[in-house]
Amino acid sequence: MISPWWREGLFFTCLGCGRCCRGEPGAIFITSAEEAALAGFFSLEAEEFRRRFETARWGSPSLREKERGECVFFSSSENRCSVYPLRPLQCRLFPFWPSVLESREEWERAASECPGMNGGEWHSPEEIAALLSRNPFPGLL
Ligand code: SF4
Repeated sequence: MISPWWREGLFFTCLGCGRCCRGEPGAIFITSAEEAALAGFFSLEAEEFRRRFETARWGSPSLREKERGECVFFSSSENRCSVYPLRPLQCRLFPFWPSVLESREEWERAASECPGMNGGEWHSPEEIAALLSRNPFPGLL
């Protein structure tokens, strides 16, 4: 459903700064299909992949984080995601999450941390609504 506050669309282009891959500890939810793809990439059985790279957040599988809140797949030396082509849908959908789109205030709060928001490519309200409908974690993002 299109919300009145973003009915004229929003601007966003990821600048690849890596800020959202680190910082405050949180959750990086992962679906079973994403888990299978990443396990295949590392030539690991799903169980071994889960043991090494996953934990649980709010009852759902999530990628582990390193000490300072960095995603386990964040490469500090390259300042980017080391599995970018296989990154979870949660990462692909940012910042078009229900919690961020809830209000202009929430959007601006996220934008204060993400330099890609409020600039770059224009996203139509229809596109944003379609991205929202792809959220595999209702109530969590
Ligand atoms: S904080 Fe924003 S601009 Fe930086 S990597 Fe994340 S989405 Fe891209």
